[in-house]
Amino acid sequence: MPTIEQIAAALQGYDPKALPASSVNEFLAQLVEPVTTTEKVGVFAALGRVLAEDVVSPISVPPHDNSAMDGFAFDGALLRPGQPLILQLAEGTAFAGKAWAGALAQGQCVKIMTGAIMPTGLDTVVPLEFVKQDGHQITLPADILQRGDNRRFMGEDLMAGQPALRQGQTLGPAALGLIASLGLPQVRVFRRIKVAYFSTGDEILSLGEAPREGTVFDSNRYTVFGLLTRMGVEVLDMGVVKDEPAALEAAFRQAAREADAIITSGGVSMGEADHTKAMMKQLGDVAFWRIAMRPGRPMAVGRIVVPHAPPLRGSLPPEGAEPGLGRPGAGLAETGKSALLFGLPGNPVAVMVTFLAFVRPALQRLMGSTASEPVLLQAHSAEALRKKPGRTEYQRGIVTREADGRLSVRTTGNQGSGVLRSMVEANGLIVLHHDQGHVAMGDTVDVMVFDGVI
Ligand code: AMP
Ligand code: MG
Repeated sequence: MPTIEQIAAALQGYDPKALPASSVNEFLAQLVEPVTTTEKVGVFAALGRVLAEDVVSPISVPPHDNSAMDGFAFDGALLRPGQPLILQLAEGTAFAGKAWAGALAQGQCVKIMTGAIMPTGLDTVVPLEFVKQDGHQITLPADILQRGDNRRFMGEDLMAGQPALRQGQTLGPAALGLIASLGLPQVRVFRRIKVAYFSTGDEILSLGEAPREGTVFDSNRYTVFGLLTRMGVEVLDMGVVKDEPAALEAAFRQAAREADAIITSGGVSMGEADHTKAMMKQLGDVAFWRIAMRPGRPMAVGRIVVPHAPPLRGSLPPEGAEPGLGRPGAGLAETGKSALLFGLPGNPVAVMVTFLAFVRPALQRLMGSTASEPVLLQAHSAEALRKKPGRTEYQRGIVTREADGRLSVRTTGNQGSGVLRSMVEANGLIVLHHDQGHVAMGDTVDVMVFDGVI
């Protein structure tokens, strides 16, 4: 596992005081190692999970050539351009789920239902509504069909032996259906990751607490909870942690022991006089950055290390008995277990933006997902936007479709990083890239659409 120092040394032009947003993702890709433990789960339970191995199709889907319509199956070689076709109807009907067992003479057709196996030698289906039937005689008008029409090929969806799904794919509704269509009751997925989160800051109130002067209610835990839950990870809510060394140490230690990753908010700004940064530094291998972005800027990233518990009659320490607590720098040997740390800024919008831009892709990697970054849409800016080159800006935007079909985007107005309301009004983020300058009205800009993520 590379250290912060090793990753930093390998990164071109690494400057923790002015890190471009793209370097943050590069850095995190080096820091995060995907989980390796896997488990087999049933198809229903696989929703949102990440596939741990390719799913190779044991069967062909569909397993036979079959009819795509209710109609009459016949030999398409009999079709002649410009001429109607007269066919004699054979006895019986080919139903879905039951093979038609009759024998056919030249020029005969068979009544067939959607999904029924194509009788041997027949390759074309004329829909019921296209023909004239007179007793056992069927007449097809000229030039309405081509050979092979309305026939689905065996293996058209999937051929036996071919990979139907790839390792690293997050399983959505379509994938569940596909797995079931292969007759597979279970699939192997990566274990679910667990993410602990807490808010820091003495001015932060939990719900239910009586407001005092200078306090604000904690909103970050709720947005982080929502963002994590939408990703399908297991969450561990650790509340608001007071800006006291003992409380912070206990929280970080518990989180590192129980979770794969820790997300905190607040207390990482440069001028911050609190203990959060100091405790991160003490308990782990952590970098403190000023990112060239807006909103966001300060962020701490690294690992919090779990120390070895002193032997307790050969058993694990009881719940709550935290070794090292209150003994900062006790120099305990490491267990090898650590949790990733994402120390996000405190501002509610900055939390969401840094989560979307950096934490989400990093957690996806941790989950074993090979998902690529979300596709950015292009929209015409409905207003001029001020932008300084040399930093990435994420403005809250409302994307709409114009009468002419083009996408247009306007901002939600006040872009203050504390204005959470604007995040609710927005349906995407306008991404103004690092080197980009001012945007004129009508210019094309990139937009990250929330689409189920928020
Ligand atoms: P900080 O990064 O700790 O300097 O916090 C920046 C701003 O975000 C301050 O105005 C904080 O009051 C506010 N803030 C920090 N944590 C939270 C939180 N959990 N919920 C809402 N606002 C917060
Ligand atoms: Mg603070």
